[in-house]
Amino acid sequence: MLNSYRLDSPKLDWSAEGAPISSEFDDVYFDQESGLEETRYVFLKHNRLLERWSTMEQRHFVIAETGFGTGLNFLCAWQSFIEHAPDDRQLHFISVEKFPMSKDALRSALKMWPSLQTYSDELIAVYPELCQGLHRIQLAQGRIQLTLWFGEAEDGFATLDADVDAWFLDGFAPSKNPEMWSDKLFHHIHRLSHQDTTFATFTAAGIVRRGLQKVGFEVNKVKGFGQKREMAIGQLPHSIPLPERMSQGQAWFNVRPTMPSNITKVLVVGSGLAGANTAYALAEQGVKVIVWEQDSQVANGASGNPQGMLYPKLASQDTPVNRFYLSAFLHATRHYQQLDQKKAFWGDCGLTQIPKNDQEKQRFKKLLDGKLYPESVLQASKDRNDSLYLPLSGWVAPNPLCQTLLDHPNITVQLNTHLEELVAVSEKTKRDRGERWIAKNRQDHETFSHVVVCTANDTNKIAAIPPTPAYSIRGQVANMTLPKAQQSCLQTTQSDDALKLDKVLCEFGYVSPPLNNKVHFGSTYDLNDQDQTVRLEGHERNIKILESLLNLPSHTFNPEDCEGRVSFRCAVPDYTPIIGPIQSPQVHRERYGQLSRNAKWQCNEIAEEASQLYLNIGHGSRGLVSTPISGQYLASLILGTPSPLEQKVSHILHPSRFLIRELKRSK
Ligand code: SAM
Repeated sequence: MLNSYRLDSPKLDWSAEGAPISSEFDDVYFDQESGLEETRYVFLKHNRLLERWSTMEQRHFVIAETGFGTGLNFLCAWQSFIEHAPDDRQLHFISVEKFPMSKDALRSALKMWPSLQTYSDELIAVYPELCQGLHRIQLAQGRIQLTLWFGEAEDGFATLDADVDAWFLDGFAPSKNPEMWSDKLFHHIHRLSHQDTTFATFTAAGIVRRGLQKVGFEVNKVKGFGQKREMAIGQLPHSIPLPERMSQGQAWFNVRPTMPSNITKVLVVGSGLAGANTAYALAEQGVKVIVWEQDSQVANGASGNPQGMLYPKLASQDTPVNRFYLSAFLHATRHYQQLDQKKAFWGDCGLTQIPKNDQEKQRFKKLLDGKLYPESVLQASKDRNDSLYLPLSGWVAPNPLCQTLLDHPNITVQLNTHLEELVAVSEKTKRDRGERWIAKNRQDHETFSHVVVCTANDTNKIAAIPPTPAYSIRGQVANMTLPKAQQSCLQTTQSDDALKLDKVLCEFGYVSPPLNNKVHFGSTYDLNDQDQTVRLEGHERNIKILESLLNLPSHTFNPEDCEGRVSFRCAVPDYTPIIGPIQSPQVHRERYGQLSRNAKWQCNEIAEEASQLYLNIGHGSRGLVSTPISGQYLASLILGTPSPLEQKVSHILHPSRFLIRELKRSK
């Protein structure tokens, strides 16, 4: 567990020409005259990338690097990939960085390379917050996917789930930075490789050559760049079985197919935030997706509310659940910024969280005193006493967002199409065409290689999906037109300043800055209530929420002036969504039953072949935070690309987690 997600900035000197030099490691990030040539020689040429890319058959290529630094190696690889790989292929680039540069430092350093300016501008615009953890960044309309771990190199590779084709072993010279080149690092470099994975490194130091040889790489010395005498290159001569690739001893949480799967056509069921983000992530990476929506319009369930807020519940402790929400939140803000440059459905206005009671006041104080988060993520509010402020947060209009996501040439949306049944295909069809599922609707049926079910509270009606503990919570939201709301305010002794909302406010509920001349607020939280009608009593409760948020006296507003909407959140008892592959409870019970005798039992044997059926549900009130990364994660499982989530985070999302907990408890 970490004490803080904050990171140390690198201590930099700058040469007269403007190149960064690490004063701490007394080493350069790149050679200021020939940095570009050196990257091309050491990493691109000696991993044979141009040749591998121009003849590439697989959908994607994965590079992993030690030491992101200025991103120069990444930008060179990106440029070269675009120039040499077929247009429909993707590059995944993974890198780790313990002392990430600020955006300003990056901008200054990369000024030296005008030929890369288009790429560096795009990178700098979405460069992540300096916050410990895994960050997934989409560039070049999804063709280039950057996975950046901010933190210690060996911790990053230990938590990654990826299949690397080529390694760029950069980093300061082993003599100046021996800690990074650890046995654990070499172990994970091996774990994440496959037969014929190559590596290239600028150094020929013994510690690096021996470390790689010890884990099984063939290592050779070749002529180094420019004046440098030697450098090392090599490859892995053997393959690595799946259980060794995943985190040890928890085979029940495997998320990867046991055999490479053929992707023909993917069905996404449901067009709300979870479905739209899943379809979009797959479509961006070249997969044809069909979306079935039972309604006559998209995103008409809980994702149909006119305005929602981006509200991550950040904890005062570093847990896998908190890591999920933190990385999901940071990813969501980048995602909305990239999708909506005109700010049509994304308002990045910030969010103030007001404590509901003394206990929460204490919790907020602890959060701020603990300095767990960087100030750019969480700080004390300057407007409201004892409150928190999240500068990166804001509001989203979910329906136009879903429409934008689904408006993609690789996505076909079929409305009024209700999934009646999912049937596994015969063994023979599976062998011949790789298709696994027949999906039936009222009119027709169709065959798919993969199915992702994003049907929130309707999921338990699908017989092919084992029952989940998800349950529904009714929520009634309200809105009022501005003139009416302002007049009500003026009738009190308060001024209408209360309604000059420039940030989202949260307390017992939320209110957002006005949208289309309306103030949106809410929401009720009604357990065991299936009533779909908008109720006056609900407006009354929402108005109380609003008056409290705006510090106004009771009865300032009239419930009769409200309009509203009812929808049903899909919640999960452990407050974490259910995202991942469906596995057979029966097979799991039989194979992993030993857990009921020994909860600490470890097992590396994967019980069954991957079903190619996935769930993405249970986002509760936080779908705007959690669904963008959920789509990326599912796309990575289906495509076999690097995961945007840490392995331990994927375990707390796994659909089988309830069964495993039950087994562990049933002694
Ligand atoms: N590849 C970079 C580029 O294209 O600009 C240059 C890398 S620079 C020579 C080495 C980088 O490794 C520095 O940014 C440094 O902060 C990072 N680094 C050093 N030790 C590290 C560690 N233990 N874990 C993660 N990153 C580390």
